[in-house]
Amino acid sequence: MVLQRTVSQLFLLSLACMCLHAAESVPSVTAPVILEEDALPVPTRAIPSVLLDAELSNLHRPRVVTGCKISPLTEIWDLNAQSFEKNADTEPVDVDDLRPDAAQALDTFKGMVTSLGGRFELKSAYRPAAYQAHLHEVWVKWVKELRGNRSRACSALREEVGAEFARHQLLVKQQPVPVSDHVLGLAFDAAVGVPRGARLNGKRVSVDKLAALVGIKRPTIRRDPVHFKLLADRPAAMSYVPSLGTY
Ligand SMILES: [Zn+2]
Repeated sequence: MVLQRTVSQLFLLSLACMCLHAAESVPSVTAPVILEEDALPVPTRAIPSVLLDAELSNLHRPRVVTGCKISPLTEIWDLNAQSFEKNADTEPVDVDDLRPDAAQALDTFKGMVTSLGGRFELKSAYRPAAYQAHLHEVWVKWVKELRGNRSRACSALREEVGAEFARHQLLVKQQPVPVSDHVLGLAFDAAVGVPRGARLNGKRVSVDKLAALVGIKRPTIRRDPVHFKLLADRPAAMSYVPSLGTY
């Protein structure tokens, strides 16, 4: 009788263990690619059944962050920023809120690049301040606080912020600044390329030479190759543009 009870208890415990393992393997299946290299370790030692029950009930409430010392992401209140955030997957580009001279430089630059057979893919332009602050916060929270965090209490928050990091296509090596030229309407991000040996008025041109002609510049080509910023002293450069004729 006693033996029978012990056997059935063992059986129940192992069933519970299987459930826990099954449930724990779920996040690594649904998590974004970026999380896979940091998959949570599966516990190897036996867990007392009281703790096991607590853990199992926790699994059904993934947003609970009790016990995690890291604060959740700040909510976005700014309406304009909210719409950016809602559409982050489709990479909304707001050119209308660029400063007029920045918008004009962007147009001229794009015209030059495409007429030379180059590639011009606009990724981002004006960003509301609150949205830029959100991007900065997501980066800091993921890279500095949660990426290497193995605390079980923080695992739900870790998963949430990791997904947000991936959704915004942020890069670990590229920290968004808290206030940027995008917020001021002075910058845009674009993936730009011109064919090797492209010539303009008989002269060889590169992406950066073309940019200089319209009064924009990539301040940090290596670290942020898509970021173009309006130059402060651009009248001389712009005066050269009409002589190019078609631009
Ligand atoms: Zn940028």
